[in-house]
Amino acid sequence: MCDHDDWNPGARVRELSCRMVGWGSETGSDGEAEFGAKLAGLLREIPYFRDRPEDVHLIESHGEPARQNVVAIVRGSGARTLALAGHYDVVSIENYRELAALAFRPDELLAALTADLESRKLNAGEQRALDDFRSGDFLPGRGLLDMKSGIAAGIAVLEAFAADPDRQGNLILIATPDEERGSRGMRSMRDALPKLVAELGLQIEAGINLDATSDQGDGSEGQAIYRGTIGKALPFALAIGHSSHASYPFDGISAALIAAEITKAIEGNPELCDRGAGELSPPPICLEAKDLRGGYEVTTPERAWVAFNWLSHHWTAADLLRLFERTLEAAAASAIAQFNARAGRFAALSGAAPSASVANAELISIAALRERVEASGGAAAVARLQQVEGDLRHCDDPLELTRTIVNAMVVEAGITGPAVVFGLSSLVYPATHLTDAPADLAFAEALEAARLDHEGSGGRKLRYREYFAGISDMSFFGHRPSAADGAFVAANTPARTLIDRSQADALQFPVVNIGPWGREYHQRLERIYTPYGFDDLPRFLRRVTKHFLTRSCSS
Ligand SMILES: [Zn+2]
Repeated sequence: MCDHDDWNPGARVRELSCRMVGWGSETGSDGEAEFGAKLAGLLREIPYFRDRPEDVHLIESHGEPARQNVVAIVRGSGARTLALAGHYDVVSIENYRELAALAFRPDELLAALTADLESRKLNAGEQRALDDFRSGDFLPGRGLLDMKSGIAAGIAVLEAFAADPDRQGNLILIATPDEERGSRGMRSMRDALPKLVAELGLQIEAGINLDATSDQGDGSEGQAIYRGTIGKALPFALAIGHSSHASYPFDGISAALIAAEITKAIEGNPELCDRGAGELSPPPICLEAKDLRGGYEVTTPERAWVAFNWLSHHWTAADLLRLFERTLEAAAASAIAQFNARAGRFAALSGAAPSASVANAELISIAALRERVEASGGAAAVARLQQVEGDLRHCDDPLELTRTIVNAMVVEAGITGPAVVFGLSSLVYPATHLTDAPADLAFAEALEAARLDHEGSGGRKLRYREYFAGISDMSFFGHRPSAADGAFVAANTPARTLIDRSQADALQFPVVNIGPWGREYHQRLERIYTPYGFDDLPRFLRRVTKHFLTRSCSS
């Protein structure tokens, strides 16, 4: 009963993938807003949903016109349910340049890209792409790899599940918008799921995110079961100095110096890596370093801003921000100590009167800064800040948004340097990982049984990996942050639109990522490896479904 080697999903998954790629859905575009209804229409062509159109749900997410999450449910028996999830938004087609008109037409794009690559001298990466295209095993297209082929594999599995008269358990497919920007689709889905599954009498016991992986190797790295996902935060520091005329540097303290010392302490520092499941996370890296002065002046800058991309494996946002604060404190102290020593040396050499030494910088969290704004300016100041944030409602750069708000807060609170204001300047993506809770172990067991089954039937080898390295919806799928963590993040994030507020009843279940593999996603040469994505992947997912939902199979 677990044997379904006669199932050949390749042609169907290819057809579904190319059809969905044809519905261009760049994040934020009208195509993204139109996609949900089109996908619902496609699903209702499947015999099961033709008979039960109400089992395809459109759930409003965000935006104007509104984007929708699509939820398709195939009922079997009992409450036990496995959820498959993927995002249908895609990144911009700008990097296709003269071939942009073909970005959503994989076969024509394949011919055009091949002709382009054959017409000129190539670098190593381009040569590899040309070899890939000539092999017949790779297909290009915006969003084909990332990740409409993943959704297509999910649809094929749903279809096969629906066609099985002896099916046990239930299977749900969830397709979401906005993954590439702020995961608003998956976050709104998370908020809607408890009510939906309660009404249907279902219990989601595990989830598979179907997102893509990409690398330049032979696929053995990317064709994998990811037991967890990496987390991300974007902590910022606004260094506040005390301006001085350039001829009298020791009359003040430069914010540029403090910010430079902070950058030096953090950039690429392996001491600041997180560790989880035996793997070290990549070190933090500076995304932005700039002073906040508009024009030219012969004085030292009063404010300088640095922001860091910081990935993690198991830290909470509070763990990360505490480490950040300690690092800032030491870096600012080091900058000021060095500056004072230089002032002393200059006085000794020049015979000038020694200047007063600069005091250590005050560290100010966003929570503390909010209190100081209220204390100094009251409700009027708070209203002015809300106006600043309101004026920025169309700003989609989280760093610019945060920088502008924090700068206005510093002015309102009348903060004088030396000081360092710090907090979080983007949506926090929590890291997740399978645990040794019984539900997680049961899911892991079914995955392993499916993997052995798949390999034993001549399928491609899949390996396990601990952390999906891309930022993805997986951070919000089946994951409920603790109330304390949520409150901490909210208190330390200046921009309210960047705060994720999960509800207390959000569902929790174990989630892994298993998705298509290929190369260079988000790039012009984005391409899927079709033998795996169109064939092995749906076969494997179907085996997981059987082993997880069918009791007799998992024994
Ligand atoms: Zn993706």
